[in-house]
Amino acid sequence: MALLKILQYPDKRLHTIARPVAAVDEEMRRLAADMAETMYAAPGVGLAATQVDRHIRLIVIDVSEDKNSLLTLINPVILEKDGEVVHEEGCLSVPGIYEKVTRAEHVRVRAQGLDGQPFEMEARDLLAICIQHEIDHLDGKVFVEYLSRLKQDRIRTKLVKQQRETM
Ligand code: ZN
Repeated sequence: MALLKILQYPDKRLHTIARPVAAVDEEMRRLAADMAETMYAAPGVGLAATQVDRHIRLIVIDVSEDKNSLLTLINPVILEKDGEVVHEEGCLSVPGIYEKVTRAEHVRVRAQGLDGQPFEMEARDLLAICIQHEIDHLDGKVFVEYLSRLKQDRIRTKLVKQQRETM
């Protein structure tokens, strides 16, 4: 397994729309394992393939306290969403920035697992928020894009400055 490099906002590659995974093979399972390792090491609660510059529809999530409930979703699709919840979100691609975002409180999702088999699941609260956040990544959207233009500009300026200083 290997730690992968996480793209940092405002990297343009974060706006790439990911293509569907055609076959869940060994290579895909290895990438999913590397993404999980990268997410746990960061540490974070979710990571989309987009964030490690692999533009396919694959996400890993673990919102559990004990970090023992890894969820891998391949080609995830939100079938239904309802309710509303406001939560302060962060993102491994936007380090140090936490902002409130409004999302659906409940989602029903269809995806494939690491065995390639399709399944459906229900998610609420933090898990539902995380799934929506990660699927956004696959669609080329970073959570700060829900914020005002002014806030986005401030965040971009701050991160570009940080990246320059650590180079
Ligand atoms: Zn993110």
